Amino acid sequence: MECGTSAQMSSSPPRVRFAPSPTGHLHIGNSYIALANWLHARHAGGWFLLRFDDTDRERSTDEFAAGIAADLTWLGLLWDAEARQSDRLALYDAAVERLKSAGRLYPCYETSEELALKRTLQLQRGAPPVYDRAALALSAAERAKLEAEGRRPHWRFKLSGGRNAWNDLVRGPQEIDEASQSDPILVRADGNHLYTLTSVADDVDFAISHVIRGADHVTNTGAQIEIYRALGAEPPAFAHLPLLSDAHGEGFSKRLGSLSLGDLRSQGIEPLTVACYLATIGAGAPELRESLAALAADFDLGRFHGGSPRFDPAELVHLNARLLRQLPFAAVAGRLSAGVDDKLWLAARGNLQHLGDVEVWRRVSEGPVAPVIECPEFAAGAALLLPAEPWDEGTWGAWTAEVKRVTGRRGRDLFHPLRLALTAREDGPELKLLLPLIGRARALARLRGETA
Ligand code: GLU
Repeated sequence: MECGTSAQMSSSPPRVRFAPSPTGHLHIGNSYIALANWLHARHAGGWFLLRFDDTDRERSTDEFAAGIAADLTWLGLLWDAEARQSDRLALYDAAVERLKSAGRLYPCYETSEELALKRTLQLQRGAPPVYDRAALALSAAERAKLEAEGRRPHWRFKLSGGRNAWNDLVRGPQEIDEASQSDPILVRADGNHLYTLTSVADDVDFAISHVIRGADHVTNTGAQIEIYRALGAEPPAFAHLPLLSDAHGEGFSKRLGSLSLGDLRSQGIEPLTVACYLATIGAGAPELRESLAALAADFDLGRFHGGSPRFDPAELVHLNARLLRQLPFAAVAGRLSAGVDDKLWLAARGNLQHLGDVEVWRRVSEGPVAPVIECPEFAAGAALLLPAEPWDEGTWGAWTAEVKRVTGRRGRDLFHPLRLALTAREDGPELKLLLPLIGRARALARLRGETA
């Protein structure tokens, strides 16, 4: 049994690829894979390829490819090169020829119904549903007869039947017993190449050093290791990340699994929040970093070791609030509406879950706000004590000290009715920051119960 591969021993910068099929939007699950690839590359000055696995021409679209590229850009995961499998058919044809001449590809003629029936019978006998290699036993005359009947062959890769082992950078030592696997189909009857082959042919051609992908590909890896070798290449290092589960530890539900980056963006989640969350998911409490570069600096694939990390949308929103609280005005200015200046931003940023929530506080500062008056006499009395402008951060303290002295109210009895009158809300930003933005005229009107 071999453990490890040449690539993972080498110290040259990693070459990685993220290989989505453009048959849908980028969602949380595949963003997590993209991010791990990108961080692993950037951690060590490596190279990141965006490869569209679009050999399924019926389901792949240019619109989905453009959408994935736009989402990766939004997340900040810029790539060094881009490839589409549909442009690379000659490479796959050459790989097919090489495997045929090595005696590793053989033609099969069963229809999908015949294969399904074989599987049913095997399962009834209690046998594993592994392809029985009946096609390998066909004589040339039998094959010719089938072809004369109009059957087109699909092509299977002949597995060694032995064990394939690798030292997974996430899962540790892994081993697949190929005797328990069907020989994979690499070319369909219509001539289309399938992923198991195209991915390896591309990874060899682009000299990919690390294949970082979801744990749903672990069983493919055994066969792919054999295909690398049959193509005369050493396999790369492999890292299979655990699939995300939902907040209850259940398999990823459809709803969450299809939570797209576009949804998060339109909800007002910051791209850096998504990156920080996904980079640390499953490794303790989510941590904030100031940039992707900072995340890359101490990134280590090994941290994903363990069970399925839980993706909790509520935790993501919480992390977003923590991030917004730290962002200087310059970091968000371009995305704020005209009425939000640096003073309002600094006052409000500690009270936002999403960037767009700042509009609530713009409305509070600019009006109109219909005040909530608990005790009209108290509010009217406080209005009379409002100091003259100009107002600054000291105004709130000076004014409320005076209101306290005159009315004898203190603590919540003093502050809460003033907040409700001035903002119509139970809580929010510090009033010492907000009051100068509201200004004397509006404060006076609101304390008198007028919408202003
Ligand atoms: N297109 C494959 C997928 O989306 C890529 C798997 C791989 O990274 O090898 O699952």
